[in-house]
Amino acid sequence: MSEVDETCAVPGEMANPLLDLLGPVALAPAIIALFWGSGDNARVLIAASAYAVWTVAFALGLWQLSRRAPQLSELGETVWSAGSGLIASALPWIMRPETRWGHFALGFIFAVIMSNDTLFAALRPNKIWKFVLLSTAVSYGLFLTTQGHWVLGICCLIYATTLVGGHDAIQDLVHRLRRQRAQSEQLALTDPLTGLANRRGLNRFIAEAARGSKTELRVALIDIDDFKRINDRHGHMGGDVVLLGLAEHLSDALGHEWLVTRSGGDEFVCISETGSLEVACRVLSDVPSLRFEDAIVPIKVSAGLAYGPADDTILADASEALRISKQRGKQKLTVVDDELRAKFTESRRLGAQLAEALEQRDIEIWAQPIVHTADRSIYSYECLARWTTPEGQKIPPSTFIPMIEDQRLTRELGESVITQATEFAIALGGDTPVSVNISVSHFIHPSFTEFVHRTLERHGLAPSRLIIEITESEDAPSATDALRVARQLEQMGVGLSIDDFGTGYASLERILRFPCSQLKLDRTIAANIAGTGLEHLLAGFGTMSAVSGLEIVAEGIEDQIQHDLLVSLGISLAQGFFYGRPRPTRNILREHPGLAVPTALNATDEAARFQRATSSASN
Ligand code: C2E
Ligand code: MG
Ligand code: MG
Repeated sequence: MSEVDETCAVPGEMANPLLDLLGPVALAPAIIALFWGSGDNARVLIAASAYAVWTVAFALGLWQLSRRAPQLSELGETVWSAGSGLIASALPWIMRPETRWGHFALGFIFAVIMSNDTLFAALRPNKIWKFVLLSTAVSYGLFLTTQGHWVLGICCLIYATTLVGGHDAIQDLVHRLRRQRAQSEQLALTDPLTGLANRRGLNRFIAEAARGSKTELRVALIDIDDFKRINDRHGHMGGDVVLLGLAEHLSDALGHEWLVTRSGGDEFVCISETGSLEVACRVLSDVPSLRFEDAIVPIKVSAGLAYGPADDTILADASEALRISKQRGKQKLTVVDDELRAKFTESRRLGAQLAEALEQRDIEIWAQPIVHTADRSIYSYECLARWTTPEGQKIPPSTFIPMIEDQRLTRELGESVITQATEFAIALGGDTPVSVNISVSHFIHPSFTEFVHRTLERHGLAPSRLIIEITESEDAPSATDALRVARQLEQMGVGLSIDDFGTGYASLERILRFPCSQLKLDRTIAANIAGTGLEHLLAGFGTMSAVSGLEIVAEGIEDQIQHDLLVSLGISLAQGFFYGRPRPTRNILREHPGLAVPTALNATDEAARFQRATSSASN
C-alpha cells in the first residue's frame, strides 16, 4: 500500500474549473447593477465585459489544459490568477465611479473580490495569490484615497492586511484538514492488524485496474486451514500471530508485483496485474511454520487462483475455486482454467434462476424406495429434489443444493419439498412413510416445526408418516437449537433421521443422545463392506437396532452381494439402486392403480414437466 500522500492532494478537489466560474461570472452583472449611473456607463460595461470574458475564456482554457496537458495546469493557473488579479485591480481605474454611492459600491466589490480570492489562495497553494491580494488592496485603497475617501481607502488596506495575514492560517488549516482526510481514507482502506489493504482497498485496486489499460488480473484467494482450531488451541493472540506471519510471508515472498490484502477473518486476497500464478502457487505451498510461545504452529492454507478481466467475476471465480480446494481437503490449491471458468459461469447463470425455479415448482421431488431387506417390500420412500429448467436441462442436487445454501434459500426449498412429499404421501395412501432431506439451517429456523405441523394438518397426514432427514455437519450452527427442534418433532410424532452417518462429524454417542428414530449409514460403508472388518460394525448396528428400536438404513446398496450381506448381518432396512432408483412421484403413483393423484400433480403444465422428466428418468 502507498504511504499517506504528503502533498495531501485530494482527488476530485480540482475537478471542474467550470465551478470556479460561478463567482466571477456572477460578479459581472453585479458590477453593472452597482455602478450603472455612477459615472460613464460605457466604462462600466467595458469593465464588466473585460472581467467576464477573461474569467470565462481562461477558465475554459484551464479546463482543457487540465485534460490535455495536466503538467501545464499549474502554469495556466498562475497566469489565470495573475490576470484575474490584474483585472480586479484595474476595475476602479477603468470604471472611475464618481458618485458617493459608486465609491461605497467599490468598497463592497472590493470586499467580495478579496474574500473570494483569499479562499482561492487558501485552497490552491499558488504563490501568485498573495501578490494578487496585495495588488488588489493597494489599487482600491489608492483609488478611493485619491477620490477623497481616505477613510474608506485605509479600511480597504486594513481589511486586505488582515486577509493576507489570515491567509497563512487558513492555508495551514486547509492543509491539516486535507491531511486528516487523506489519513482517514488511508485507514479506511487498511486492515488494522496486519497493515495490509482491506477489502475496500482490494475493491479500489480492482476498480482502478478496470479503468487502466491492463485489465487482466491474477488473483489468489487464500483461507487458512483449521484457523478456528488454531484460535481454540493458542487463543486469539496465537491466531493474530498466525495472521501476521502469513501476511508477512505473502508480502515478502510475492514481492512488489502483488498487492496482498486481508479481506476479512482468515481470508487473504493477493492480486496482481503482472505477477505469475505459478509463483503464487509456489509461495502458497511453502508457508513456513511459526513459533508462538513454546509451540511450533504450522500454517496451512487452501486457495483458489483465477486469471481474467478486472471485474467482479474474477473474485467470484477464485471464491468458487477456493470452495473446491476446501472440498478436496486441506492445503489444496485450485487454479481456474477455461473449463472450470465456463462451469462457474454456467453455475452463476443457474444460480440466478433458482428463486424462480422454486416458486414455479421446477424443483420437484422424485422418490426412491427404502425396503425391508427380508422381502424387499417397500418400507418408505425418500423424496429427493430434482430440478428441471424450463429449457429441459436436468440439474442434479449436488449442483443446486450448494447454490440453495449459498443463496439462503434452504427454507424455501425445504418448505416446497415438505409440501410435495406430503401430497405424495396422501396420494400413496396406506401407512407408507415419506422422508425428506432438510438442511440444518432450515431445520433450526424458528418457523420450521410450525410449518411441518400446519402442512400435516392441512393435508390430514399422520405425523408418523413424515420423516425428516438431516445431515450432521461440523458447522451446524447450534447443537442446542437442533436438539430443541428434534424434541418438538418427537412430541409431534414426526420421525427424525440422521443421514449419511459415517461420513460427517457426528459421533455415535452424540447421535444416541439425540432423539432420532432412524440412522442412515452412508453408502461408502456399503461400498466397502467386503473384507474390511466393517461387517462387524454393521452386525453391531443390526444388534443395536434390534435392541433399541432405532431404525438402521443402509444406503447405496447396488448389488446382490451387498444385499445378502445386509440380510446376514441383521440390517433390516436398505436403500439403493439394487432396489430401485429415484423416480418421478407421478410414475410411482401410476403403478398404484386406484390412488388419488393430488391436484398439484394433475395440473397440465405439471404433467408436461413430468413428461420431460420421465424421458430421462434414470438417476
Ligand atoms: P442423500 O439424502 O444421502 O440421498 C441419497 C442419494 O444417494 C441420492 O442422490 C440418491 O440418488 C443416491 N443413491 C441412492 N441409491 C444409490 C446407490 O445405490 N448408489 C449410488 N451411487 N447412489 C445412490 P441425489 O438424489 O443425487 O441426492 C444427493 C444428496 O442431495 C442427498 O443425499 C441429499 O443430501 C441432497 N438432497 C437431495 N434432495 C434434497 C432436498 O430436497 N433437500 C436437501 N436439503 N438436500 C437434498
Ligand atoms: Mg437423504
Ligand atoms: Mg444419505
